[in-house]
Amino acid sequence: MNKEALYYINPDCFSLSAEVLSCTQTKDGYVLTLSEDGFYPEGGGQPSDRGFIYLGEEKIQVFDVQEGNPNTVFVSKPMPVGAQVQCEIDKKRRFRLSQNHSGEHIVSGLIHQQFGYENVGFHMESKGEVQGLMTIDFNGKLTWQDCLDIEAKANEVIWQDLPIEIIWNPDESIAYRSKKALAGDIRLVKIGNVDCCACCGTHVHTTGQIGLIQFCSCQPHRSGTRCTLLCGMDALKDSRKKADVLLAMSQALSVHSYKGFTALQKLQAESLQKTHRIAQLEEELIACKAQSIPACTYWFEWVEASQKSSVRKACDYLMHHSQVQIVFVGACKEKEIQFALGSAEKDVRPLFEILKTKANIRGGGQKEMVQGSIQIDKAACIQLLEELGFHGNE
Ligand SMILES: [Zn+2]
Repeated sequence: MNKEALYYINPDCFSLSAEVLSCTQTKDGYVLTLSEDGFYPEGGGQPSDRGFIYLGEEKIQVFDVQEGNPNTVFVSKPMPVGAQVQCEIDKKRRFRLSQNHSGEHIVSGLIHQQFGYENVGFHMESKGEVQGLMTIDFNGKLTWQDCLDIEAKANEVIWQDLPIEIIWNPDESIAYRSKKALAGDIRLVKIGNVDCCACCGTHVHTTGQIGLIQFCSCQPHRSGTRCTLLCGMDALKDSRKKADVLLAMSQALSVHSYKGFTALQKLQAESLQKTHRIAQLEEELIACKAQSIPACTYWFEWVEASQKSSVRKACDYLMHHSQVQIVFVGACKEKEIQFALGSAEKDVRPLFEILKTKANIRGGGQKEMVQGSIQIDKAACIQLLEELGFHGNE
């Protein structure tokens, strides 16, 4: 940790000039060292700054920064050693990450105070759809209600707009949280009486700048709990998206947003009832069809399968309630046919093996019934079955 780095001495400096000290090619681009460390490097669970370096008129993107002495800055184009360049740090991104990082300290501090748990794993910008999602692992059990209580307290800390102080190399009177034994300079981030923690990351100046803290999930993880949360701009964007989705759903269901979930549950129950009724009607229909099927060796029948099990159930019924020795039941699903081939008396597997030589078929089963899918259209399937001696209802 470089105590003299610009992002520590002057965290509000987002535009600076520097000299290129070195430039080497890597497999992904070029890596520079500069006379001024203005870009925050990845560290302490916080991703690095991004931004641009201007070499004269040329604008070159900074896509990563790693800690070193000096730090290493990863760019897409080479720059001559000795050149004077202008560095522009992505201020919005730094602020967003600082909001999240400060929010994480408040939450970790409150959980430590209330439950005595340690933050044992912290990751910002977790992969996935939600921008800025943070993952924090605690070494103790938390319920969702615990998280909601902490969320309420954390937001009260925001409203108090407490200063976020940085203390370098504290005396022994200051107690603080730390993930590991520390060597060299110690940097503490102190938030009123809420938290004091060793940290190398960037932070907002007062808790009010965090804006909002919102838990997204909590689940058991190893012997503790993994929580995800959002702060500041990221929390607001996520809330907006969720509110938009809820509003659209509620409008579609013609209810107020607050009643959206109840309306959805009602719809699900109705849909389930309908599914059961359709399955019942399918069974009645196949029972009717069974009566009109003539006694024969091979028969095919088509059904509208509302469920995965519909084809198997229809085949099973016809096997046992018709005068047919071997029955093929098919249902057209998009570009394939789902089928069941069954017999109450004969082993259907030899016939299945013959079918497999004539079309692209996936599936298998026992001697009474094989099931699967055929990559073929209905007309071609009927032709194939007829070639094998089947008759049926088209
Ligand atoms: Zn930290």
